[in-house]
Amino acid sequence: MAKTFDVLIQGGLVVTGAGIRKADVGVQGEQIASVGPGLKSEDAARTVDASGKYVLPGVIDVHTHPVYEDDLGGLSRTAAYGGTTTLVHFAYAKPGTKLLNTIKQFKEEGAQKSYLDFGVHGALFDPASQIEEIPKAFDLGVTSFKMFMTYAKLKWMTDDYHLTAAMDLIAQCGGLAMVHAESGLVTDYLEDRSLKKGEDQKGVFLKTRPDYLEAEAIFRAISIAAVMNCSLYVVHLSTAKGAEVVQRARAEGQPVYVETCPQYLALTDDVLQRLGPLAKIGPPLRTEMDRVALWKAIQAGNIDVVASDHAPKNKMKDDPFFEAPFGSPQAETMLTVTYDEGVNTGRIGPCRLVQLLSENPAKIFGFYPRKGTIQNGSDADLVLFDPNQAVTIQSQNQHSGVRYTLYEGRNCLGTPVLTMQRGKVLIENGELKGKPGEARFLPTRISKIKP
Ligand SMILES: [Zn+2]
Repeated sequence: MAKTFDVLIQGGLVVTGAGIRKADVGVQGEQIASVGPGLKSEDAARTVDASGKYVLPGVIDVHTHPVYEDDLGGLSRTAAYGGTTTLVHFAYAKPGTKLLNTIKQFKEEGAQKSYLDFGVHGALFDPASQIEEIPKAFDLGVTSFKMFMTYAKLKWMTDDYHLTAAMDLIAQCGGLAMVHAESGLVTDYLEDRSLKKGEDQKGVFLKTRPDYLEAEAIFRAISIAAVMNCSLYVVHLSTAKGAEVVQRARAEGQPVYVETCPQYLALTDDVLQRLGPLAKIGPPLRTEMDRVALWKAIQAGNIDVVASDHAPKNKMKDDPFFEAPFGSPQAETMLTVTYDEGVNTGRIGPCRLVQLLSENPAKIFGFYPRKGTIQNGSDADLVLFDPNQAVTIQSQNQHSGVRYTLYEGRNCLGTPVLTMQRGKVLIENGELKGKPGEARFLPTRISKIKP
């Protein structure tokens, strides 16, 4: 006789953004069929013992770059090991390329290679020629678009004229503008001046990218978004000054969503001084004061999302610092590091953690309640998290294509032991069970549900 449940996760503490309770989770096919106490193992084809563990909704990482050392397949695999079940990638349309073509390529390649369900943000490197493609991107299921307010020298920066034009169009279509907020031209001047003086670029990396410039760019983006009536998402907030600016806009009721990343919550500039190019990321690792302020902003409800900005680049510790590219691997360590820094320190509880990593990104990008929670009818995207298992993060145990991590040697308490996507076990006790090509593309929809 057919069993009621394909899988029964028994005896765990089920965590959602709304609360924690001891409950069993019955999975039928791809979905959660029942959540409650006393579900019977004889009704299940397979029972997983979750006693002493948290049952979390799978992590939804909405800031990933599968164009460097981890491609759409490799990135999804390394993320799955870390408890992630859904990704939203930035489809980088480099100058001279078409936004729509890039989005189509990502969708096709993802369908073949990805282990995880995924969505796509458009990312415009050449807004003057790419903005006009924005309305058509909505037909492809892409409704969020990132612009750079920095990297002027690299010719990736969107000037205010085109930022305004993009926000105008995005607002008309009901989408979301996303900004990397740092003042590009001021940064370039500071860097050029420092290079002329012959200063050690590692030593002055933070000084050439001061916190004022993040705050200034955020304020400018918020102001333009207010004038254009456009919803705004600030990626990777990294400073106390920036947090103050977003706090003010949100208090006034402006739709500004805010993301930070585990690296800004766990690391500071001393790591850059130690690891050199490996820790060269944009925005830079900041000061302890900034790190503490970000946690305060999380506690105050002024940061909605923690996402990885996973962008592993091929570089070595002793490479020349100035020439080294920006980016680091973060997807696999995100849940463990954020849990350790947030929950184990008493800064936040498990529910807030789930809001930041799953529920809020699901709400903002329109996946909720299909994803981002644990309830009847939701996709069975689940993570078993063992809060008592100690781990030491080492690059040799990671699954990214690069052989370094900024957390080398760091001891954390708590780690995911099982990752399930739509009822199928992807990772169990460190073993990969999933296959590429079973992922689904998820169209985003900018919802009006407030995180
Ligand atoms: Zn990024």
